[in-house]
Amino acid sequence: MFSYRHAFHAGNHADVLKHITLMATLRHLMQKDPSITLVDTHAGAGLYRLDGDYTETGGEAKDGVIKLMAAFRAEGAKPIADPAPAIDDYLDLIAGFNPSGALRIYPGSPFVMQALMRHASRDRLKLFELHPTDGKSLDGNIAQLEAGRTVTVTRQDGFAGLMPLLPPPPSATGSKRALVLIDPSYEIKSDYAKVSACIQDAVKRFPTGTFMVWYPVIPRPEAHDLPRRLKTLSNQAQRPWLHATLSVGQDPTHGPDDRPGLTASGMFVINPPHTLKASLQQALPQLLTVLGRGRGKGQTLDVGG
Ligand code: SAM
Repeated sequence: MFSYRHAFHAGNHADVLKHITLMATLRHLMQKDPSITLVDTHAGAGLYRLDGDYTETGGEAKDGVIKLMAAFRAEGAKPIADPAPAIDDYLDLIAGFNPSGALRIYPGSPFVMQALMRHASRDRLKLFELHPTDGKSLDGNIAQLEAGRTVTVTRQDGFAGLMPLLPPPPSATGSKRALVLIDPSYEIKSDYAKVSACIQDAVKRFPTGTFMVWYPVIPRPEAHDLPRRLKTLSNQAQRPWLHATLSVGQDPTHGPDDRPGLTASGMFVINPPHTLKASLQQALPQLLTVLGRGRGKGQTLDVGG
């Protein structure tokens, strides 16, 4: 437990899929006036250095956000097409964290959410992070925002911490709204079962909340079963769902003895905004064209409920 550090992976293809889906969802939710509670059950450190020690060794952003930025924004680049609005919005956000132009900082999900929440309308952001070092970094990064009580960081198990927050408190007009991101490291295989149990409980407590789950697509029965279980849970609760996957395929420069690393991941969204499917329908093929590498590359998008 606790050997996972997101800094090694920040800005990789999985973060790109996750954060584009998160932003497209938040943009829609923020168009409605009533305040909203945002929860990130597995928040990470919040901000990551793309030129730091961790990424120097991992370098996964090179095949993710750095490649995407170069394809659409680099001086002299000949983009494949105009970027899909969801990709454009994401690249704008990343550029905002890097005003000098060079990509040095990558904002994790807490900062993606914080950037899109409305401060005057009493939106609240609740962050959970268990790792002692990443929890401390997150505390420090959030403190710099001087966001007061609108953003809270808790060093607690995010699965357990979520439950007392549901249903969320009513807005001034009486409506209750929440978006929850569940993004574990799946370092221990019990995380898969915990995600299912957590979603089951959360949807029971607050059926109209938007719940987003990230998961790795890897040859492990638990990983394979998770989206199937989430579909079943959503269908049983009669809630609409959206399921998107992005596989960048194998790196053709890797030798047979190299560790392949993560090549694919998925996002499962319960109660997605009605605009999300169209946003991802435009974005996913472009992500595949830019980030796809070799054998096994592909993308899928399904909705139901
Ligand atoms: N959501 C982040 C983002 O998109 O920027 C990345 C999160 S990373 C994949 C998962 C994080 O969950 C790690 O930082 C890990 O330390 C933390 N973690 C692991 N188990 C946890 C638990 N039960 N509750 C809260 N955090 C946990």
